[in-house]
Amino acid sequence: MGLLSLGTPLSWPETKVLADHVHEHGITQFLYTWDRWAGRKGEPLLWGDEIEYIVVSLQDEKKRASLSLRQSEILDELKNVVLDLCNEQPEKSMVIPTFHPEYGMYMLESTPGCPSGPHLKDLVSVEANMRFRRKLARSHLRANEIPMTITCFPRLGVTDKPFTDPECMSVADSPASQSLFVGKGVTNPHARFPTLTGNIRSRRGSKVAINVPIYKDVNTPSPFVDPTIPYDRQLWPGDSEAKNGAAKPDHIYMDAMAFGMGCCCLQITFQAFNVDEARRMYDALVPVAPIMLALTACSPAFRGYLADVDARWDVIAGSVDDRTEEERGLKPLKNDKYRIPKSRYDSVDCYIANDSRNKAAYNDIACPINEGVYQRLKGHGIDDALANHIAHLFIRDPLVIFSERVDQDDEDSMDHFENIQSTNWQTIRFKPPPPNSSIAWRVEFRSMEVQLTDFENAAFSIFIVLLTRAILSFNLNFYMPISQVDENMRRAQKRNAARQETFFFRKWVFPLGKTPSHVDCRSRSTSPNGYRATNDASENGSSVPHSASTTSFKLDDRSSCPSPATSHLEPDDEVEEMTMDELINGKGEFPGLLGVVNAYVNSLNVDVATKCDIRKYLNLIKERASGKLVTPATWIRKFIVTHPEYKHDSVVSESINYDLLKAIDEIERGVRAAPELLGKAYQASQQT
Ligand code: ADP
Ligand code: MG
Ligand code: MG
Ligand code: MG
Ligand code: MG
Ligand code: MG
Repeated sequence: MGLLSLGTPLSWPETKVLADHVHEHGITQFLYTWDRWAGRKGEPLLWGDEIEYIVVSLQDEKKRASLSLRQSEILDELKNVVLDLCNEQPEKSMVIPTFHPEYGMYMLESTPGCPSGPHLKDLVSVEANMRFRRKLARSHLRANEIPMTITCFPRLGVTDKPFTDPECMSVADSPASQSLFVGKGVTNPHARFPTLTGNIRSRRGSKVAINVPIYKDVNTPSPFVDPTIPYDRQLWPGDSEAKNGAAKPDHIYMDAMAFGMGCCCLQITFQAFNVDEARRMYDALVPVAPIMLALTACSPAFRGYLADVDARWDVIAGSVDDRTEEERGLKPLKNDKYRIPKSRYDSVDCYIANDSRNKAAYNDIACPINEGVYQRLKGHGIDDALANHIAHLFIRDPLVIFSERVDQDDEDSMDHFENIQSTNWQTIRFKPPPPNSSIAWRVEFRSMEVQLTDFENAAFSIFIVLLTRAILSFNLNFYMPISQVDENMRRAQKRNAARQETFFFRKWVFPLGKTPSHVDCRSRSTSPNGYRATNDASENGSSVPHSASTTSFKLDDRSSCPSPATSHLEPDDEVEEMTMDELINGKGEFPGLLGVVNAYVNSLNVDVATKCDIRKYLNLIKERASGKLVTPATWIRKFIVTHPEYKHDSVVSESINYDLLKAIDEIERGVRAAPELLGKAYQASQQT
């Protein structure tokens, strides 16, 4: 989550009247940052991950797995552990991880402590770093508690049995959410979180309403009307909403922020050479986000039922959807300013690079902007694309304001800017430099679901890092209409999407529309030498290529052949529907995302052993895309439906859930084989 300033949160009516104030000063703060960083370049290529955990408490005698609500105690303890480690090993303090609070009281977040470089030798140590963080957390929990990297706890919000430890009071004790299913004990009590929850509900004018299609098994009633919803409760004003239509038949209904913000993900943040490079990287990652969501899908069950989706995205989008009925287009605009097509948590709406390849035709969905903000930014000399992006973020109201933080020194603070920015949760985030810090322009990749093991989490992190290197090094063009990226977001969440869906993607990704002959494509036999970039990046120096340097690959003889002149093609002709296998592993002249990563890796002057180490991670991506390996969602779903106690009625019972989480923990510890998920090589490496 964003900043956690301490203070007294304002009520929604008090917050609402300060919206213009926050917008105005937020932009002033951004402009100070812009001016301070204008013309600066040459920042090192740094990156780091964020991993979120669910702390599960196992009660073997009851065959119950529940959510341990001890985040505050655990973080206090981990803070001391980290301090001790720093004192004991000052020379190693750079690698000592940090742990952060999260929305759910059962969640933890960890980051590596300091960002690493993009060299292959840095990448090789990622898994060990992730494992160290997990081990550190695990060894400071109670004996029956486990920090698990599952995206969604399958029984969060069930009403038949307790799902928290300690058993969470009455579920009717949350004035902020007014949820029928989760009490206030599941939410971090730091003022920011209940205030966010309550103000989203107040702003929207009702509770959030999330409806995920249920997976209809042979014994699932049809239509499915959930018998476990307390439709007739009368404790809070929002209690009648479920009965009055908010809960849809044939769906799993959820009514609180915790259902979304209580999910875990894997995020990667990259620092760019300069602001222009950050903007190009952002744009290139926009079409990649849904692909990686499908490939990392890990959430097939919600609130005790199997869902007909495999991923969390729409749940989390719905869980913080603060738009009023007018903004959602259900009523004519009268009190509100904008029709807003999406939740504040959703996919990107516009590309932002100042690049001739970023054509108007690609920005083809409604993207309302705050006109005053746009004019101010333009007046300050900021170009259209970036002004548009920020003016779009600034259509949102601030959701939490602390009374102590209303007046700020705009030259010295980014709090008002971050207030809006950090509650625009999109697939990709463009992060300006924080004040008083050497941290520069960054881009965050946010769509991935967290994976069950650190082997997988490392593999996806490494893949994305290398993909960004390939994008910059080869100046790749991934532009395609945003409407098709959004269509991919919808497809990415479907059950078994990585296997059964096709996805839109750009056919011609190399600059001249021509795949260099040395890049391995499926249509070609293995290239003898592998692809080499002309300035053959050295692994020892700082010469890892990025677009801002002079790196460009020299096209060989074949480049003099006429290339498809992509510039006059309609966007439709540039894009094709591909299977996940084709998209990652290539098809015809299309090298696949892994193809460009391989070309980049082959261009590096690195020892074979290091390349082999990297290969084992890239193989996971390759095989998951080809279908040889399954996604965690598929693995979890299969575990549930083949469990002896499963009644083919979509219900994930307490004991199925317990066995599932035990099994996942065993896989993570390497004591249970899951070759269909991790590959045979993984199991062998675990045993040695
Ligand atoms: P947030 O929650 O705001 O997204 P976090 O601080 O939790 O961000 O995590 C940011 C990640 O970015 C961490 O993994 C960290 O290592 C990494 N990081 C920190 N500084 C830089 C930097 N200058 N460049 C790139 N990555 C960085
Ligand atoms: Mg987080
Ligand atoms: Mg974080
Ligand atoms: Mg954050
Ligand atoms: Mg983050
Ligand atoms: Mg949006």
